[in-house]
Amino acid sequence: KKVLSQPIIEPQFDDLIRPGHPLAGKANATILSLVQNQDISSIISTIEQLEDKFNNKFGYPYTFMNDAEFSDTFKKEILALLPKERIVHFVKIRPDDWNKPASIDNVKYIEAVDKLASEDVQYVKKVSYHNMCRFYSSKFYHQEALTYYKYAWRIEPDVNFYCNIDYDMFQFMEMHDKIYGFTLNLYDSPQSVRSLWNDTLEFVKENPQYLNRDGAYEWLKENVQNPENYNITGGYSTCHFWTNFEINNLDFLRSEPYEKYMDFLEKKGGFYYERWGDAPVRSLALGLFADKSKIHWFRDVAYHHFPYTNCPSSPPGSNRCDKKCIPGKFSPYDNLYVQNCMATWLKYGMTDEESKM
Ligand code: GDP
Ligand code: MN
Repeated sequence: KKVLSQPIIEPQFDDLIRPGHPLAGKANATILSLVQNQDISSIISTIEQLEDKFNNKFGYPYTFMNDAEFSDTFKKEILALLPKERIVHFVKIRPDDWNKPASIDNVKYIEAVDKLASEDVQYVKKVSYHNMCRFYSSKFYHQEALTYYKYAWRIEPDVNFYCNIDYDMFQFMEMHDKIYGFTLNLYDSPQSVRSLWNDTLEFVKENPQYLNRDGAYEWLKENVQNPENYNITGGYSTCHFWTNFEINNLDFLRSEPYEKYMDFLEKKGGFYYERWGDAPVRSLALGLFADKSKIHWFRDVAYHHFPYTNCPSSPPGSNRCDKKCIPGKFSPYDNLYVQNCMATWLKYGMTDEESKM
């Protein structure tokens, strides 16, 4: 796995689909963002960078989702930003796919939230944040607008893309049979997922046939940095793909193991009685049910969502990246480096084949 220490600007394959190739921009894919009207200027900032670095060469459609109706101003400003032939969907989420379900006991919910707030779990008092985590775990790919797409690349307001990408990442995933693409790997606050691991093990015990022998089980287990987390999670490392950047092969999410797992978690209620994030949920599903060789680290993609960055090193003389991209710099805050769990992914998740990508 020596290759990892070398500068990389893209996967080492000669079948990459370049701009101008007949297959360029032709994957069955959309860029996806859940966003609010008030975040228009922040999402524009993201889109401008993504277009500049990648998508103006490929022309992939956008899908915007919102629990409220998108305003005319929002739609107009987005459309003004993009070439007029570009496909853009604006989706109003069905209330049942967004709001706290009636099955959640409100008294229990309020008590749980108060307790977690006293433990400093971020956002726990905002019901919309719980809604968002549940939505991005399962409800998003059930929206009609995504029915016919196979891949969705999630973006958020105010993230940054620092380096040029000169090949079609969706076609790369298609040709190499990848079901998930990520850039950053982090530990989570253990209090937010107190019973997720034990609930998940219960699901696996009921459905042992879903367990993938080539999964990344150890990655879900090992946390040398913060061993005290085990006392809280009962054995989950809290390592997860940071889902604010993710490219999902939606067929994996639509598969029986994932769908059944979501039904099971929904019944447990932990999106509300705790503050299960979509990131640990997705990561547990991928680590347990997916073949790890189908999970791709886009290490060549320079991505920033405050306060973390994935910035690759480029060969000397390359001008593919903005100056803001400082190779290896994970965070501006030294004390946050302990949040990085890429090392355990490299140890347990990454296959030899993948290390060349
Ligand atoms: P953080 O990254 O965990 O701090 O959470 P964010 O505030 O960035 O939210 C994650 C994503 O969900 C972003 O794309 C937000 O735009 C979106 N989001 C969060 N809350 C809401 C909401 O109430 N309504 C809508 N439409 N989008 C939301
Ligand atoms: Mn965010």
